[in-house]
Amino acid sequence: MDAPCQTTPPLEIPSRYTTDRSRIREMLDLSAAQLAASDTAQKGFALKVPDAFLQRIRQGDPGDPLLLQVWPSREEELDVPGYHHDPVGDGAATLTPGLLQKYRGRALLVTTGACAIHCRYCFRRHFPYHEHRDEEESWQSALAQIRSDPTLTEIILSGGDPLTLSNRRLASLLAQLGEIPHLKRMRIHTRIPVVMPRRLDEPLGNLLARYASSLVMVVHANHARELDAQVHDTLWELRHNNIVLLNQSVLLRGVNDAADRLIALSERLFECGVLPYYLHQLDPVAGAAHFQVSDETAVALLEAMRCALPGYLVPQLVREQEGEPYKRPIL
Ligand SMILES: *Cc1c(COP(=O)(O)O)cnc(C)c1O
Ligand code: SF4
Repeated sequence: MDAPCQTTPPLEIPSRYTTDRSRIREMLDLSAAQLAASDTAQKGFALKVPDAFLQRIRQGDPGDPLLLQVWPSREEELDVPGYHHDPVGDGAATLTPGLLQKYRGRALLVTTGACAIHCRYCFRRHFPYHEHRDEEESWQSALAQIRSDPTLTEIILSGGDPLTLSNRRLASLLAQLGEIPHLKRMRIHTRIPVVMPRRLDEPLGNLLARYASSLVMVVHANHARELDAQVHDTLWELRHNNIVLLNQSVLLRGVNDAADRLIALSERLFECGVLPYYLHQLDPVAGAAHFQVSDETAVALLEAMRCALPGYLVPQLVREQEGEPYKRPIL
């Protein structure tokens, strides 16, 4: 299950992160024996943790739920049947390089291959980003396709993480999308407000605010401890700019597969001005099988959430399956 070697492109924004295993072990006060790493797993998808996220990992705990999300463990080397490089049929859904469509009315624009953090369970960890860049890297073929199809009413900016793009490029993209008359909504799928909150500076806030009436931002947190005071303030800034905020999580063994953790996450999201949207069952991507939680457990966890929370703080538990008309709820 060797990944084709695809070094992800650099971020367009200045940022501080680490790719250095020893530095992380040192910071967390863990030895190489306590925290073993896999070289093979890192070949196509290197360790990458922004400082803001690193600071929230507890010292001395190799099983910390934040650490597990970013650490390239030996378990990634396991070759598990059914886990592959294109787990959700992105290849087959490609309309034109950089543009995927699976569902009626909405298409997903792969704006960049860069991310601020590398999440080990990511379903696009083997995505062939290099095949989705047009020559000028300006999304022109995707934009032409969107302009020519009046049935598209919503565009999802995804990647990678669209907020790794410079404000200049993001402004240009939003402006071009904003001029397409049949588009009613634009959505940004991003982990940056959670993992690199400083990126949401005033100029970016002002840019997003201009599109507030049609903009939805879906952030991504899996554990309440990811949402510290700085993230809280950043998310409220976005809310004050009238941007609708939703969260998606992935159900991950060792990270959030406990009712009290999922409940705490929903409670904390609300405090941060965000409503839960989806709780995804893991996509079977090669290298992530050790994160899998059974459907039976997942359903029991959802039941526990329903017993403890108002309905609007219970996310939809869904699984994406190639060829389905929507992300199917698991009941
Ligand atoms: C997940 C996804 C969407 C969004 O689906 P919603 O149910 O509207 O959130 C759209 N397009 C693609 C290709 C997706 O993978
Ligand atoms: S930020 Fe999103 S796209 Fe990037 S590695 Fe994490 S889950 Fe994947």
